[in-house]
Amino acid sequence: GERPKLLVVANRLPVSAKRTGENSWFLEMSPGGLVSGVTAQFDTKWVGWPGVDVYDEVGKNALSKALAEMKCIPVFLEEVFDQYYNGYCNGILWPILHHMGLPQDDHHDTNKTSQTQYDAYKKANRLFLDVIIDNYEEGDIVWCHDYHLMFLPQYLKEYNSKIKVGWFLHSPFPSSEVYKTLPSRSELLRSVLTADLLGFHTYDFARHFVSTCTRILGVEGTHEGIVDQGRVTRVAVFPIGIDPDRFIRTCKLPEVIQQMNELKERFSGKKVILGVDRLDMIKGIPQKYLGFEKFLEENPNWRHKVVLVQIAVPTRNGVPEYQKVKTQVHGLVGRINGRFGSVSSLPIHHLDCSVNFNYLCALYAIADVMLVTSLRDGMNLVSYEFVACQEAEKGVLVLSEFAGAGQSLGAGALLSKNRLIILGFFGTLTEPMHRRTKEMDLKLNPEVKGTLEALCNDPKTTVVVLSRTGRNILDQI
Ligand code: UDP
Repeated sequence: GERPKLLVVANRLPVSAKRTGENSWFLEMSPGGLVSGVTAQFDTKWVGWPGVDVYDEVGKNALSKALAEMKCIPVFLEEVFDQYYNGYCNGILWPILHHMGLPQDDHHDTNKTSQTQYDAYKKANRLFLDVIIDNYEEGDIVWCHDYHLMFLPQYLKEYNSKIKVGWFLHSPFPSSEVYKTLPSRSELLRSVLTADLLGFHTYDFARHFVSTCTRILGVEGTHEGIVDQGRVTRVAVFPIGIDPDRFIRTCKLPEVIQQMNELKERFSGKKVILGVDRLDMIKGIPQKYLGFEKFLEENPNWRHKVVLVQIAVPTRNGVPEYQKVKTQVHGLVGRINGRFGSVSSLPIHHLDCSVNFNYLCALYAIADVMLVTSLRDGMNLVSYEFVACQEAEKGVLVLSEFAGAGQSLGAGALLSKNRLIILGFFGTLTEPMHRRTKEMDLKLNPEVKGTLEALCNDPKTTVVVLSRTGRNILDQI
């Protein structure tokens, strides 16, 4: 083509594919995808796993053809997918990047398992490389996304050192003290450092990355990035955002307004607290429920006047830790609804499903409180989406300071003169989960007592950043 290509490489293509016949596929592009701004300048192509296993050549060819029309190029991972994705990516890298440490697993031979997973991870990265090589032309830029593809920059540069390579991390990057518990810590760092530019969501994540490289590899960190024997890898901060207009437009659709009215009717006389998260350990859903239970315990007058609606989107069912947290959460819902429910009303509406975009917007719009209790989170777009949908500006966003959005929204909230409060809510995060959940006591900080009550009655959209320090940022301005 005349324009250089931008190859956006991510684990998952932004499409969902359903097979409808031997050589036919039904494809749907995920909405809200990335960067309309970039597409004018470049001929953008996506490279990634199509989300389905295809074992026959006829099926693969038909899918590749159909995807090409959507500018997507598939990487078929069938044989390595489980060990690569459920094993190394989400069983090992994800918890470490989110400060959770390596999971204590029940395997008899943990070393052997993690070696197999590590090998599968490298193999998968090689499969991505092969597809890129088939599609690369001089001048193209390859933009690698996320922790799934940490070996790809090195493989690309080994193939052709002139390829321009960027790597963006969508998750947090932890303190070096946590990161260094990863057995393959050095290889992964050396690989991403072969890229030309590394991007992170927040300044803290970039800073952690740089100091981890200096400590583990002995390279030099400068204001530009990392310098190793005269070669510079730039490190920069690019906070991800949302397209607010898409949400604002959706909230004006008659169908959505109808849904809002039905929801308001359904919950009339009650304050609605909303949670929208994948059912992931990092989202702090058990902690959210324990906090809510405490609130109901201590505020009997609120018991039938508030409802917590939690959309718990199923995720990574192939990883044992995720099955555990699901069971734990279901136990809590049962207990809390059992303790505080009545025949006609239940305090928690917990849904193990995703909802469609229009309905999600309706929920955001009618919610009185959005409760984001992430223990760690790369950014957390849900918090932005809630604010975008709150046209009436009456709701309150309660946002964990441990989400990247806590940093980004904090500043924005002050600029728009919304009230910003920092509350003590969590125990220290280095402690084991069971201690932590016990310590998550709303009485921890006197500021917090009765806060939900006050917040529910607040007349304007307010951003509340939950913090374990309990400092009130307003005191410091
Ligand atoms: N979301 C969705 N279906 C749902 C609930 C949420 O597609 O039923 C979307 C939501 O709109 C948001 C994304 O999932 O854009 C979650 O992104 P976030 O950054 O909050 O968390 P992540 O899941 O990436 O950890």
